[in-house]
Amino acid sequence: MSADFAALLQTIAAEVTALPPEGDVADYIPALARVAPDQFGIAVATVDGRLFRTGAADTPFSIQSISKLFALALALQREGDALWRRVGREPSGTPFNSLVLLERERGIPRNPFVNAGALVITDVLCRRFLQPERAVLEFVHRLLGRTSVGIDADVARSERRHSDRNAAIAHFMRSFGNLQAEVGAVLDAYCAHCAIAMSCAELAEAALFLAADGRQPGGARVLDAADARRLNALMLTCGAYDAAGDFAFRIGLPTKTGVGGGILAIVPGRLSVCAWSPRLDANGNSVAAAEALERFAAAAGVSIFG
Ligand code: GLU
Repeated sequence: MSADFAALLQTIAAEVTALPPEGDVADYIPALARVAPDQFGIAVATVDGRLFRTGAADTPFSIQSISKLFALALALQREGDALWRRVGREPSGTPFNSLVLLERERGIPRNPFVNAGALVITDVLCRRFLQPERAVLEFVHRLLGRTSVGIDADVARSERRHSDRNAAIAHFMRSFGNLQAEVGAVLDAYCAHCAIAMSCAELAEAALFLAADGRQPGGARVLDAADARRLNALMLTCGAYDAAGDFAFRIGLPTKTGVGGGILAIVPGRLSVCAWSPRLDANGNSVAAAEALERFAAAAGVSIFG
């Protein structure tokens, strides 16, 4: 039986919410600028079926880039290793929405978690599914075993109306032949899957397969064990953009962050943990959620580096 994390989560929530607020909510997507900034939640799901949560752990928020993880897992299921001809596996050292490396690297994004890489993954899904964003949503439903999660249409519309930068990235990659669908269709699907709304508890539960060698809690296989391991490696090296090194140093776990303020972390073999708080640092990562995960990894002794 796994450890009881209830008291630890409460202590962390009390400590982190007592810190002076730092950072700002994302405002380049207008609908996200309206979110109350000082909310905080954290949830832990263990591979032996326990769920611990505290604070606003059941409040749905915009998962944004955390959706790139689900999109990638789904694309890997369908496309297998052929995917890696179109997207790399190296940290970029540049902001999540940067264009600078794309010209030098001939339209091949550094990794699937920077926006360029996620747009390529979404392009793969556009070819495989008539409604790619629904395919991502239904994949999440299968992971959760329920259909309680949806796409926030306001957030999707708001991002789509302000997607000039992602449009530029997509057109640029298309000019190199690394985008097959129409740019508009890829952006529609991308903005919609980024706008999936989930709570910390739902994200921790949905991501458990990454802590369990690619299997869901009931035993169903999502990815083979090698792909689950590779996804964790990508999260560790690329999941927090150009703060990935700092996150490995501070937290020591595979993580995926989103500009909605969520951070999901995996403890292979044991659990998944998700913290959420909307104020972001300059890299677009939640300040309080990172702080909470740093404290959790240290106190529970679960860093992958011992
Ligand atoms: N939908 C966001 C964008 O494309 C995702 C960024 C993020 O969460 O890091 O800008």
